[in-house]
Amino acid sequence: MSVRKTVEILEALVGFDTTSRNSNLALISWVESYLDGLGVGHERVLDPTGTKSNLWATVGPAGVPGYILSGHTDVVPVDGQDWSHDPFDLIERDGHVYGRGAADMKGYLACCLAAVPGMLASPLKRPLHLAFSYDEEVGCIGVRGLIAQLARAPVKPIGCFVGEPTEMSVVIGHKAKRSLRVTVHGKTCHSSLAPLGVNAVEYAARLIVKIREINDRLARSGARDPLYDVPHTTGHTGTVQGGTALNIVPDACIFEFEFRSIAADSLDALVDEVTSYARDVLEPEMKKVAPEAGIVFELKSGFPGLDVSPQADVIRLAKRLAGQTDHGKVAYGTEAGLFDGAGIPTVVIGPGSIDQAHKADEFIAVSELEKCGKFLDGLVAHCRN
Ligand SMILES: [Zn+2]
Repeated sequence: MSVRKTVEILEALVGFDTTSRNSNLALISWVESYLDGLGVGHERVLDPTGTKSNLWATVGPAGVPGYILSGHTDVVPVDGQDWSHDPFDLIERDGHVYGRGAADMKGYLACCLAAVPGMLASPLKRPLHLAFSYDEEVGCIGVRGLIAQLARAPVKPIGCFVGEPTEMSVVIGHKAKRSLRVTVHGKTCHSSLAPLGVNAVEYAARLIVKIREINDRLARSGARDPLYDVPHTTGHTGTVQGGTALNIVPDACIFEFEFRSIAADSLDALVDEVTSYARDVLEPEMKKVAPEAGIVFELKSGFPGLDVSPQADVIRLAKRLAGQTDHGKVAYGTEAGLFDGAGIPTVVIGPGSIDQAHKADEFIAVSELEKCGKFLDGLVAHCRN
């Protein structure tokens, strides 16, 4: 596969501002016409508004289990970032190509698309599927519709390669995440009469301390997975809003928190610990003063973790194709847990480094695109045998 072709495709993909808040349909149409030019069929799996879509395409025989090449088309915003050039105009300098999404993860999409002519060159015994999603960066939302459709299909793929940037190293696990928005409803009054009110900020603070205590317990004596940089489950509060003036007892406080768990811990149990504390300890106190007071939890986002056996076929195959014997786990979340949860063994392996993702002047080394191209050539050859 020619890396120049890959860079050319990447330039086109980066040119579409597919920040998650925008439609990705212009990019999808571009990919569709590229595939049309090669005679490859494709299918959209739209979001409920019809303004965003997953794309599914198959090269090779239908009705036979094959492999999925999975990546997201959306990118994180460039707002407030100090770019030295137009982030949606790919530029090449000293063996690197710069642009929003170059590493995360349009570089991988470009490698997959550049590999299609090679897939078509002679018949495949096992098909290769492209699965390009939307709204990954805002909680792995888009791909769920596509996976639901896969679950209903008569033949299940045998493996999935999620090309998040790992510098082409083999990743067999990532943490699960769940985030919640909490609204504490109190009762307002003049602060000189504070005991007659229910201070929503103070009750929120007690709940935030509870989350911190759970975090500290996990850090001190929780389960460990040494393949992670932070080898235990974590919990944290990220935003708090409440109160209008010092002389008013605040009647509302809203905060957001999350847990990121290793496979040994249960997110349900951890969230339960927080909600039980609210229900059994805090709310009875609040309601004694004002029966209408209370605490409401809303799920914000979440995704399952990935924890594949190093012995799984897809992991062995990825290692062989990448010329590696080692594997690791990553801190960030991916769509891999969702594919794996649907019974499709999944590995995370892709070009570029997560260190360059989400930042100003995001880039990918051309040599990384080349490595990924070789990997995909190997996979295509594997699918011929
Ligand atoms: Zn990504």
